[in-house]
Amino acid sequence: MHLHLPSEGLERYKSASQRARVGTESWGANNFFCPVCESPRLRSAPQGTAAVDYVCPSCDSPFQLKSQSKPLGSRIVDAAYSEMKRAILEDRTPNLFVLHYDLDLWAVRNVLLVPHFAFTLSTLEKRPPLAPTARRAGWIGCNILLDKIPPYARIRMIDDGKAQSAKEVRRAYQRLRPLEALQVEKRGWTLDVLQVVQSLQKSEFTLADCLRLRRRTGETPSQKSPRPRQNSPTVASSPQFPPPRFPRPRPLSLALSGVPPLTAQPSLYPSSIGRLLVRALRHLSFEMVRSSVIR
Ligand SMILES: [Zn+2]
Repeated sequence: MHLHLPSEGLERYKSASQRARVGTESWGANNFFCPVCESPRLRSAPQGTAAVDYVCPSCDSPFQLKSQSKPLGSRIVDAAYSEMKRAILEDRTPNLFVLHYDLDLWAVRNVLLVPHFAFTLSTLEKRPPLAPTARRAGWIGCNILLDKIPPYARIRMIDDGKAQSAKEVRRAYQRLRPLEALQVEKRGWTLDVLQVVQSLQKSEFTLADCLRLRRRTGETPSQKSPRPRQNSPTVASSPQFPPPRFPRPRPLSLALSGVPPLTAQPSLYPSSIGRLLVRALRHLSFEMVRSSVIR
């Protein structure tokens, strides 16, 4: 992968931001490959396609590119808030490449890939409406909060000038794909829980951790979906969620690579939030491990 941005034909663009947009888009067209299938190239989307910059010629997966010269921080600017919110709820967000380039060297330094199914409503931040004096007065944009996306769903394709192989990137993407099969609401809650659980950096949870977690994630699914039956001794008896076929600590420690092993025992969590937490963990660990880690 060549990290230098192309410069031919950029003289005709007056503003630096236009040159950067054209340069990074053209670099992507020459260097991005599809992480979903084996296609070695992506093709540029037709001009004016909303929120999509590239499409895989083989599997039709859509991709969006966001570039900036500032080092990647906790948020990036995205388009209209209402559009992005609707796209998340309707499960049609594109995969996202977040690119950081060095303006002086005119070269790519970092690229993150966020799979389309890793976006949840909690990764969206509403921006203040544009001032009445602005051309689009009252328009409301949004930021994507990168730090609200779990670390393992921010795939580092290029890290400080060092590119990962296509094989590694595809493997990282494929490991997350079981999430794609979950309904949007369940997926959002699962990712939110996992994001907070990872940030706890603990090998075991207490009820106090769970309650703190509830305060941080806001609304729990118990406010929307039926509560677990009172006479259910543990979540393992819920017909919707099959019990894991191996001891619970093992899949969790495998699924969350890079963090200490986690143990989640329903008996430790008498409250409904605890049961929901274990459910959310099981979604990820069971589905993910079954299909991607244990072969
Ligand atoms: Zn593809």
